[in-house]
Amino acid sequence: MKQEHLTDKELQEWALGQAAMHGQQAAHVQACARCTAAVANYQALFSAIHAMEKPALEVDMAALVMAHLPVATSQQSVEAAAKRAFPRLQLLLAVAAITVVIVTLLVMSSYFKGLLQGVDHMLFSLLVVTVLTITLFQCRELWVLHRKKMNQLKFY
Ligand SMILES: [Zn+2]
Repeated sequence: MKQEHLTDKELQEWALGQAAMHGQQAAHVQACARCTAAVANYQALFSAIHAMEKPALEVDMAALVMAHLPVATSQQSVEAAAKRAFPRLQLLLAVAAITVVIVTLLVMSSYFKGLLQGVDHMLFSLLVVTVLTITLFQCRELWVLHRKKMNQLKFY
């Protein structure tokens, strides 16, 4: 027996039937008990792996999940969903905050009058404009957020 034992790679290729063996190697495997046993082991292993390749779970998961999702069948339900998505809590909080500010201003108006007597009229105007601008931008941000959420609801 001149030929050396085959390498693991060669044995695996042989077992898979991919190898184009030289006559010498083929003769060796046929003659050598160790290499024949190794090829048989690899063939058993590969066939076992091949049998496992089929998915254990052949259930259509997507269909199962979709069956449990609420489907928007009509325009009415889409509108209902949009109503739910509207940030009512944020609006309520904004209204509450504005109310608190107005009440505070009314209650403490005499105090503010005394405070503002020393303050430049231009500075006060600037303050009012700044507050109005910030409020406007906050409202715009809220509106943009609302639009974005509405667009997310339009699947079709
Ligand atoms: Zn051998």
